[in-house]
Amino acid sequence: MRAVVMERPGEVRVVDREQPRIEEPTDAVIEVTATCICGSDLWPYRGIEAVDHAWMGHEYVGVVREVGPQVRDVRVGQFVVGSFFASDGTCEICRSGYQSHCVQRVPMGSIGTQAQYARIPLADGTLVATPGMPDADLVPSLLAASDVLGTGWFAAVAAEAGPGKTVAVVGDGAVGLLGVLAARQLGAERVIAMSRHADRQALARELGATEIVEERGDAGVAHIKDLTDGLGAHSVVEAVGTQESMMQAIGSTRPGGHVGYVGVSHGVSLPGQELFFSGVHLHGGPAPVRRFLPDLIRRIWDRTIDPGRVFDLTLSLEQAAEGYRAMDERRATKVLLTV
Ligand SMILES: [Zn+2]
Repeated sequence: MRAVVMERPGEVRVVDREQPRIEEPTDAVIEVTATCICGSDLWPYRGIEAVDHAWMGHEYVGVVREVGPQVRDVRVGQFVVGSFFASDGTCEICRSGYQSHCVQRVPMGSIGTQAQYARIPLADGTLVATPGMPDADLVPSLLAASDVLGTGWFAAVAAEAGPGKTVAVVGDGAVGLLGVLAARQLGAERVIAMSRHADRQALARELGATEIVEERGDAGVAHIKDLTDGLGAHSVVEAVGTQESMMQAIGSTRPGGHVGYVGVSHGVSLPGQELFFSGVHLHGGPAPVRRFLPDLIRRIWDRTIDPGRVFDLTLSLEQAAEGYRAMDERRATKVLLTV
């Protein structure tokens, strides 16, 4: 089969790789229909994280082609969506809704889903089948559920977005934009997208943003306070992962409010006193996407939401190197690879 490999920073190739087989009795093998390039794939691409001949990809939708002897619920021929962590679905952590911290979790990035086929560990706990074979136009949205939608949704839930709330969203990448969508779906009254890019501001408005704040840092915090009677937002989604974005999120939150942070933290160090006197709740980390998948698939299937709109470039798997370049050079927000 064909698969994407990152040989070293900046060097992505599509090569032949041995087709995956069932290794554990709880595995499934899927034929991948579509996969995508994640913002987090850019960290090794840019040499910020070490990389040496790594199989790439952790987002996926596809059709089950084989299941192990202990797989009970997932069946050959089903169209499935899974999260970027495989999880057993049975341990105490999974049952409490934190499948991304499952005691048996397997990061799908260690398997590599930018490929024609992928082995899915713990298939029954990991995969959710759609009601049938999806129409082609639903595939991008179902793929978004695999990571960026599930992550934006968790951030909005962690920030306690809901009716009567004012929600601010720090970050206008795919996760931030879908955090806007999630906040509105969860019933937030006002959703303030923090973005300085006209095209992303427009998409944020279409996804449910009621206001836009262009400033960053302290100026961004001051503008959020201006819009909220000096108090700050009830709920803030943080979808970047830098020192500036975390402090912008904490500063934009009112005392007693909630920050949902899902930007993968790089070089963030929180000042204790500022945190102490802020009086805000902080909750986040790698999103337990699996918790939300049945609900998200239903909303996509019913055409209530269209999160696939965050994909602004579609290429074939063979064109993966161009996809990485486009994201690295910010010519694309999120690249879908058809397989
Ligand atoms: Zn578990």
